[in-house]
Amino acid sequence: ASLENLDTTVPAPHRVQDRNLPAAAAATDSFDNTPDSDPSLPANQAWGRDILSRVPGSDLGKAAVAAAAVNTEAELDAVITTAVTTAKAWGALSGAERAEVLHRAGQVLEARRAELMEVMAAETGKTLDQSDPEVSEAIDFAHYYAELARELDTVEGARFVPSRLTVVTPPWNFPVAIPAGSTLAALAAGSAVVIKPARQSARCGAVMVEALWEAGVPRDVLQLVQLGEQELGRQLISNPAVDRVILTGGYETAELFRSFRPDLPLLAETSGKNTVIVTPSADFDLAARDVAASAFGHAGQKCSAASLVILVGSVAKSPRFRNQLVDAVQSLKVGYPEDPTTQMGPVIEPAAGKLLRGLTELGEGETWLLQPEQLDESGRLWSPGIRTGVRRGSEYHLTEYFGPILGVMTAETLEEAIDMANDIDYGLTAGLHSLEPAEMDVWLNRIEAGNLYVNRGITGAIVRRQPFGGWKKSAVGAGTKAGGPNYLIGLGNWEAVAGTS
Ligand code: GLU
Repeated sequence: ASLENLDTTVPAPHRVQDRNLPAAAAATDSFDNTPDSDPSLPANQAWGRDILSRVPGSDLGKAAVAAAAVNTEAELDAVITTAVTTAKAWGALSGAERAEVLHRAGQVLEARRAELMEVMAAETGKTLDQSDPEVSEAIDFAHYYAELARELDTVEGARFVPSRLTVVTPPWNFPVAIPAGSTLAALAAGSAVVIKPARQSARCGAVMVEALWEAGVPRDVLQLVQLGEQELGRQLISNPAVDRVILTGGYETAELFRSFRPDLPLLAETSGKNTVIVTPSADFDLAARDVAASAFGHAGQKCSAASLVILVGSVAKSPRFRNQLVDAVQSLKVGYPEDPTTQMGPVIEPAAGKLLRGLTELGEGETWLLQPEQLDESGRLWSPGIRTGVRRGSEYHLTEYFGPILGVMTAETLEEAIDMANDIDYGLTAGLHSLEPAEMDVWLNRIEAGNLYVNRGITGAIVRRQPFGGWKKSAVGAGTKAGGPNYLIGLGNWEAVAGTS
């Protein structure tokens, strides 16, 4: 495993603290949404309440989604033709000129932070403590890719030739940051973009795109679509005018895209089944807190989420750590985002299929340490579940569930725990809780995952500091990391400048 992303430093203050609030509120170190009858609420609490009060009637993004409807092949062709035609002028700008537009996009996203949080809560059920840093991440992408765009101008002996058309197909779980990151990267690299936000988070994608238009990205260069039927998706992906597709989603979707067009240049961040190993030297308080947050933040609906915790040696044999973990998880308040005290929100759609089985059925030898319960009629609200006794090679061990479920496995030694983690076909994030430097070395050398975290949570990678991307079946295509220094150069081609070798 690479040391590149090992987080060995004290976490930098997240941009979430920098938002434009009165000084007293900005100085608090996170969004505090505790209900309080005191009329002199700190400004950030009042701000959060204000957003939440608008959620039930929110119609943000609805008009833009309706306007983005593409229902026929002719309409789709028109979108593609316009994008390809205007791509020329956008790609002919210098990196520095495009960077200016991207910096402005960062400013508009900041100005629209509350709106973006409102539409995320309204459409996907994302809680404010998750959506606030998500907007920060989108802003970070804008400014970081702007810097990288400038660098494209300065490579000696080679000229960067932008792609004409990039198709962006983002997921619903990070409905603002991921579409923004992929789109901004392609725009920074001089390409036109056709973006098709996930159906479940179409409005979030639309509000994000409107922010970019407002910042000066031409509408013809950045085209928002919602496709009326699946066949149009196949036609879009397989259209030869499309130079590249940036996909974040399931591994199966990447395979489907490749089946549409075998030579498709695809940059895909796909599934994860991520482990945290806890050794006897760990700080158990910290480990329990980090595992709970990594497994159940956004109801576990993150590619980066912790899905398995592997207890080593005496941690496995004594009930102490398991009890601490259950306490930490049980104390999470589950509900809808409109209630400011909610810590874990609903899943995106009524649990069905694999997720429903994961919430209700145990594999051989497994027992519930904490049994998930369906909390209302919607089928979306579940209390967090922890299954223990997960066996090596079992379905739970090797499969991604993408919901509020955590499994516990046990190992005699750290080596065995690492083998169990590496059995998994995916390799996105991984965590170790240990205070022994020798154990950290062993784990860092052997664990097979793209983003490694020691003694902290395993979600929430930060642009530039922790470029994000996986190994094995967690990535398909070029394998460069989003939010990292090499991302843009994979989005175009290089041409030798005449007179140089
Ligand atoms: N970038 C996110 C994180 O570090 C994960 C993205 C995803 O789940 O797709 O938590």
